[in-house]
Amino acid sequence: MDAPTRKFRQMNAERLIKQLNKRRMHGSYAETVEEARSQVLDLIQGPCSVIRCGSESVGSLGLWKDIAALPGVELIDPYVPGLTPAGGDERRRRGLTADVMVTSCNAVTLDGTGNRVSGMIFGPKKVILLVGMNKVVSDLESAMDRIRDFAAPMNNLRLNALNPAHEPPCTQDGRCHRCSSPQKICNAWTIIEGQRDEGRIHVVLVGESLGY
Ligand code: SF4
Repeated sequence: MDAPTRKFRQMNAERLIKQLNKRRMHGSYAETVEEARSQVLDLIQGPCSVIRCGSESVGSLGLWKDIAALPGVELIDPYVPGLTPAGGDERRRRGLTADVMVTSCNAVTLDGTGNRVSGMIFGPKKVILLVGMNKVVSDLESAMDRIRDFAAPMNNLRLNALNPAHEPPCTQDGRCHRCSSPQKICNAWTIIEGQRDEGRIHVVLVGESLGY
């Protein structure tokens, strides 16, 4: 990363962390993925249970293995090879009451934060979001455009590479067709504007590009 890009991302992260703090969320900045990895591991203090979520940002850092090895941590993993779909769903349900959720989101705006799953809203006592600065956009409209025009098609292409039978329309041409396919992955949209419990959500912003 060149110096101007580094400076730009750091300044944007500082603005964003101030906005998060006003909304009773915490944030920190890591210039590199290695710093981000340490920050996430430091935020998880056993004894506790941690739910593994399908996040390319977290998975690409190989963090799940490190989290599972932390003292006193029980990793609830719905992605264990050989687990049936019903078995995976059972663990996901259990994960809604885990102590800690580690995941990412598809977009963060400079005046709020947006995205993914019910557990971010209620359930886990602590939610750690690992977010590359490539996902920071200026406003909600840009966040929604980013999700439809980039994050969802890219995640669908990732899933298609793992399972060629997963082929919602955007896997054919890279464009969102506002589909109602049974394989649609962008069914639920969540906008998180704040937290009642101070610090329940901690956003680790990463200066490097991470995930889709
Ligand atoms: S709505 Fe359908 S076509 Fe559009 S991104 Fe989502 S899955 Fe792809």
